[in-house]
Amino acid sequence: MTKRKLAILGSTGSIGTQALEILTNADGLFHITALSANNNYKLLAEQANRFKPETVILANPKNRSEFKKRLSYSPDKIIYGNDGLDNFATEGDYDVLLNSLVGFAGFMSTYNALLRSKRVALANKESLVVGGEILTKMPAFKQGNLIPVDSEHSAMLQCLVGEASESIQKIVITASGGPFKDYSRERMSCVNLEDALNHPNWDMGAKITIDSSTMMNKGLEIIEAMWLFSLPVDKIEPVIHPQSIIHSIIEFVDGSSKAQLGPPDMKVPILYALTYPDRVEYPNKTLDYSKTMNLEFTPVDFERFPCIRLAIESAKDGGFKPAILNASNEIAVERFLKREIRYIDIPEIIESSLNNIESNKEITPLTLQSIDRETRAFANTLLK
Ligand code: MG
Repeated sequence: MTKRKLAILGSTGSIGTQALEILTNADGLFHITALSANNNYKLLAEQANRFKPETVILANPKNRSEFKKRLSYSPDKIIYGNDGLDNFATEGDYDVLLNSLVGFAGFMSTYNALLRSKRVALANKESLVVGGEILTKMPAFKQGNLIPVDSEHSAMLQCLVGEASESIQKIVITASGGPFKDYSRERMSCVNLEDALNHPNWDMGAKITIDSSTMMNKGLEIIEAMWLFSLPVDKIEPVIHPQSIIHSIIEFVDGSSKAQLGPPDMKVPILYALTYPDRVEYPNKTLDYSKTMNLEFTPVDFERFPCIRLAIESAKDGGFKPAILNASNEIAVERFLKREIRYIDIPEIIESSLNNIESNKEITPLTLQSIDRETRAFANTLLK
């Protein structure tokens, strides 16, 4: 592989730090041209000093002078503020953009990078959940420039190499079930923040850990898969697989299935997204078949996990519903993290937002942004 230019948005988060760990050990794969962080200026400065990108972006400018003092080299550009972050995908220098921003805030970067026909390694699933209708119509998407980093979607992509899309009968998307997979509804009503932040298999950021526990994460991933692989939502079936060894399964029209396996480790899908369609040598952990290993599958209980049901319904309704679902979920999770609402209030806020907000405008980046703002404002007024 020739050395390509990589920009990482959200480099201090879970995906960003693991990507940099890979690149530390696989020196020569990429030249890093830009790193960005929202608040964590200390880690951003450390990363910048190590990788010396030409551009560094600090979205929250509050600690700008403290940040600058920590830099041991002079980048060509230091950008502060959210507008600068949004503009980077349009103006910045890169071949591949790793978008690991959290939430709908990441959409414009995906959109702007695809407008320039750049490769996007997408860890920001909300880009597709909210804006799938827009992104999948873009020529760059049709040319295969949007590569998923999400482990399930990476698994699907890996199973589909060499297969025609008409051969897909259905996709089985696996879910760990999170920490509350065996909880009754009564027990669920007593869940606190510390319980919800404690995921059994995956080490992830706070937002996605909560989304995993409510199974909203799987709901968002079903919508993400629907857009990525152009399938109706009822052809994507979630299943609980507590070991997180099989990352997803494609069932083909002849009855055969392919699955992708590995220990739960995001470095595998991150690396694959960066090097796709090539595979490069890297010492990731592998499965140990010399020990007994059980793989279990159980169906999803949509009664105990209303968030995944709401996500599937919003995908069926289409239009702005997935955008409303996503925005109200972002606010509900944020408020739960601030201890403003109870755990079981999260689906209530989402359902109420879906029932109360509507728009029959055409879907564009601007109308998506306005429905996103409207939903956030509404979701913030609930249960006050
Ligand atoms: Mg995932």
